[in-house]
Parts: sequence; C-alpha cells; structure tokens
Amino acid sequence: MKEAYKPIRAGKAMKGLMEDYFRELDAAARTGERKVAWCTSVGPAEILRAMGFLVWFPENHAAMLGATRASAECIPVANSLGYSPEICSYLTSDVGAYKRGFTPLATAYPGIESIPRPDVLVYNTNQCRDVQDWFQFYQREFDVPIVGVHTHRGVGEVTEAHIRSVASQMEQLIAPLEKVTGKSLDEAELGRVVAESRQTSVLWKKVLLTGAATPSPLTFFDACIHMGPAVVLRGDERANRYYEQLLAEMEERVAQGVAAVDGEKFRLYWDGMPVWGKLRDHSGLFASLDTCVVASTYCNSWVFDQLDPADPFNSMARAYTELFIVRSEDEKERYIRDMLETYKVDGILFHDAKTCPNNSNNRYGMPERLRAGTGVRSLTINGDLNDLRCYSAEQSRTAIEAFAEQLAQRG
Ligand code: SF4
Repeated sequence: MKEAYKPIRAGKAMKGLMEDYFRELDAAARTGERKVAWCTSVGPAEILRAMGFLVWFPENHAAMLGATRASAECIPVANSLGYSPEICSYLTSDVGAYKRGFTPLATAYPGIESIPRPDVLVYNTNQCRDVQDWFQFYQREFDVPIVGVHTHRGVGEVTEAHIRSVASQMEQLIAPLEKVTGKSLDEAELGRVVAESRQTSVLWKKVLLTGAATPSPLTFFDACIHMGPAVVLRGDERANRYYEQLLAEMEERVAQGVAAVDGEKFRLYWDGMPVWGKLRDHSGLFASLDTCVVASTYCNSWVFDQLDPADPFNSMARAYTELFIVRSEDEKERYIRDMLETYKVDGILFHDAKTCPNNSNNRYGMPERLRAGTGVRSLTINGDLNDLRCYSAEQSRTAIEAFAEQLAQRG
C-alpha cells in the first residue's frame, strides 16, 4: 500500500510554533497583559502586530473546526440563530462553536479552555462580505470596538486610485486602535514588522515553488498544513525561522529526487478551498492514483511580497488588493494560466464550495476558457470547506478516479 502522506521533518517544529502561538494568546487573554485583536485572514495584521496586539484569526479557528470535523455539531447552532446554511461555513462553524462554548484548542493543548476574548475586531472585506457580518456578530457579543477596511472587488488593473483608497482606510484604523492600546503607533516598529512579514511571504513562496520540481517534493495537502504560520504569524520572526527550515528540507528533497507522491505520473492544480474534513482522505486518494496535487490558488493567497518597509501603508494596500480573490475574472484567468505553466500541470481540479462562492472559480466559464486557451482539462467536484453535508465522498472519488483515467489515456 502506497504511503498516503510522506512525513515532513519540519512538521514537529511547526506544531511547537503553533502551540506557542495559541498559548501566548490564551495567557494574554487571561492575564490582560497584552491586548488581543481579532483579524480576518488577509486583514491588516502587520499594523496590529506593530501596535503590540497579539492577533487571533477566526478563520484559522474555523479551519480547525473543519479539519477536526467538529463543524458538524457547530453549524446547526449558528443556523438556529438565523445564520443561513447557505452562507460561509467558516462563519457558521465558528459562531456555532462559540455558542456551544467549544474549541478544538482545549483538546489539542491541555490547559486552554476557550478562545481568547478580543479587545478589538479588525476586518478587511477584500475576500468577501461574510467576514464583516461574522465580526459584527462578535461585536454585539463582546461589545468591543470594530474597525474595517472596505476593499474594491472584481479589480482588473490595480490603479493608484485603488491604492490611495485602501491605504487611507488603513491609516484611519490607527487612531481607534491607539485608543485601545493607549499608545501611539511606532512607525519604525511598523517598518520592522512589514519587513518581517515580507520575508515570511518570500520564504513561503519559495517553499511553494519547490512544487514546480519534477517530482514535486510536496503536495497541496502538505501545504494546507504548513501554511499555518504564514497565516497567523506573518510578521513574526519565528515564522521566518520555521520557513527557512521547511524550505531547506524541501530543497533537500528536490536535490535528492524525493517525491511527495512516489511514482508521480500526473500533476494537478487545485483551485478553491480545501475540504478540511477530508484532507487526509484526499491526500491518500491522489497518492493511490500516482497523482500529485502540486500547487493551488489557495495556498498562494498568503504571499504578500509587494510589502515594502519603506512605504508600509501603500505597500500593504497594494499587497492586500493585488490578491487573487480581489481580482476580475480576466486577471484570475491570467494568474491560473501562469500557474499551470510554472508547475507543469496536467489537469485542474476545481472545488465548487457550496458556501464560498468567493473561492469557487468554476462558476463563470473559467474551466472552459482555460481548456480552450491551454488545452489543460479540468474536473469540478462539489463540496464545501467545512459543511460535509454538501460533499459526497463516493461521487468525488468516482469522478477523481475517472479524471485520472482520462489523463492516463491522453498519454
Ligand atoms: S472567502 Fe469564503 S471561506 Fe473565506 S470567509 Fe469569505 S465566504 Fe468564508
């Protein structure tokens, strides 16, 4: 039986780093020694870190609820409060878990009993409107300040007008945040954090790019696990030390020809969210088909190498506006075409996630246009990031096996 998952040595360091991150937040919330900001996953984390906040990302918590399949008990609780089963299942998982007083952190890290209470809530609508509604729920629960950035969506060319608009909204966050911390923003510290955050992105991008090697040293499923620090600790130098270690290990695999999937025959691109509760199953299924999912839109969404410590606000505005999810259909198509070429991809898997139209790029003719323009075939599977009621393991397996068969016949 083929190994479904080839262990990555650096994984131990990552687990330790993530535990430190959660325990620091827990201690801060219990002692009140540090302020805690809740932030959306592609929100202005650099500003918050530079102002001394510890930063909690509800989307990361929601992904844990999905990966541990605890979402099944949480989503209906949020539904009963009027949050529709049709909206973001990260939102409904997280709100439902909060209402139940449940967190998977309590099982993973003995001593942690609850998520850290926020002192302020900070969102950016660059990814979707759901994050604003999600944070407004907590604003009503905790009665703490909420501030946000409203980003243009469906952006083609990113213009100076876009950048000015977003940068000035980011500047306007500072005064209300200073009220929470009781201290002024230290601009030198902001520059330092932006430089560290840029470095996190540079290293994470290099890790992902090792997947362009044949055979690929890592899979999309590995990347979904190892992206944790790039999401929750970007701008913290400990994340950079971690990615140096991971990068060295991936480069070593490339030099030695070590494949993430032994006997790699086909290379796929994954577009859309992972199905968190099926990550391991998918990893095993693709490995059994000698297929490596070598790259994804999703894991590349935490690459912000536009950040510039000499021009923090404008460069943050650019980084968080040039993001894939913010862009027009044409820009998205161009991006995926580049990825297909860089990673020498044989086929694309689109995950149409029922509750996240924002990350489901198959709905407006993209697969057909890519096939016409590049000859690369695609398969769409229906599912969801967290709500497994929307996912059929049997149907997906049959479709994926048939797709691998088609690729084999193509030769
Ligand atoms: S982008 Fe999708 S998964 Fe992320 S918060 Fe918005 S609706 Fe939820």
